[in-house]
Amino acid sequence: LLLRGNEQYYELRGFALGTSVRIVVSSKKINPKTIAEAILEDMKRITYKFSTTDERSVVKKINDHTGEWVEVDEETYSLIKAAYAFAELTEGAFDPTVGKLLEVWGFTGNYENLRVPSNDEIEKALSSVGYRNILLDDRHFRVMVKNGSKIDLGGIAKGYALDRARQIALSFDEDATGFVEAGGDIRIIGPKFGKYPWVIGVKDPRGDDVIDYIYLKSGAVATSGDYERYFIEDGIRYHHIIDPSTGYPARGVWSVTIVAEDATTADALSTAGFVMAGRDWRKVVLDFPRMGAHPLIVLEGGKIEKSETFKLFERE
Ligand code: ADP
Ligand code: MG
Ligand code: MG
Repeated sequence: LLLRGNEQYYELRGFALGTSVRIVVSSKKINPKTIAEAILEDMKRITYKFSTTDERSVVKKINDHTGEWVEVDEETYSLIKAAYAFAELTEGAFDPTVGKLLEVWGFTGNYENLRVPSNDEIEKALSSVGYRNILLDDRHFRVMVKNGSKIDLGGIAKGYALDRARQIALSFDEDATGFVEAGGDIRIIGPKFGKYPWVIGVKDPRGDDVIDYIYLKSGAVATSGDYERYFIEDGIRYHHIIDPSTGYPARGVWSVTIVAEDATTADALSTAGFVMAGRDWRKVVLDFPRMGAHPLIVLEGGKIEKSETFKLFERE
């Protein structure tokens, strides 16, 4: 509980989106506990709705009916359409059709089948990857995946859930402040005590230290790293961000943190940035700000590279 003057932050911790979540919210109008509980409930709803394995999942429904049109609700349609747009924007570095690849690597469900697949398995899974295998019917809110593709929204759903969380808070009280965090990704609801920035630590990808601080009064921050979900075999680290052009975990960087105006953008572009920075981090540092995404990259070995624009988020 954070206290200052008569403004009080209510904090709720829980589990959703496959990770731990923390909701810190204050309102002068509504009991903040009510707001926080509504947010956590919604995050759980989003978790199963966009899971690849849950029986209630609409993604599973689409994947189980490849080659057929599947009618979906507006929320699902918009999120898949957003994922498609990020794939186009990043020339396929972010690709929501990596589902089959994640399956052969075991990065699905409860991660009990983690293993290095054979080249054959990777080739076969790779042949199903390509965001253009997603067909979108704007008129009837229908989605189809072709060529045996499987959709996986794991690189964007958390960000979407964080943006929803803020909307929910503001729907209770448009002057609510605070932030919501899921597995290290953060969406600001409003400035601390109505006027101060929240201070966010960037985690050392190879330790527990904080390597940098970000000051934010609005917007969002998301990190993609090789240190949260991985396994090591024969001394090689294999993690869950897959380069859609090779079928193997992306190499060359330890983490990519993105500050953006919304969490959906930060999430999708941190995943894309991770794939792209391993090939050419300078390009990410130069190009991403034009997409509204401000990167901090930790290269393999630990060197930190940031965009010029990143100084906007340093202590004022
Ligand atoms: P985290 O979930 O740890 O914050 P990310 O935001 O980078 O990390 O999301 C990683 C998840 O994104 C993976 O677990 C998988 O579901 C999905 N994914 C993996 N590779 C890609 C990719 N190239 N494009 C889009 N999604 C991906
Ligand atoms: Mg992401
Ligand atoms: Mg992330």
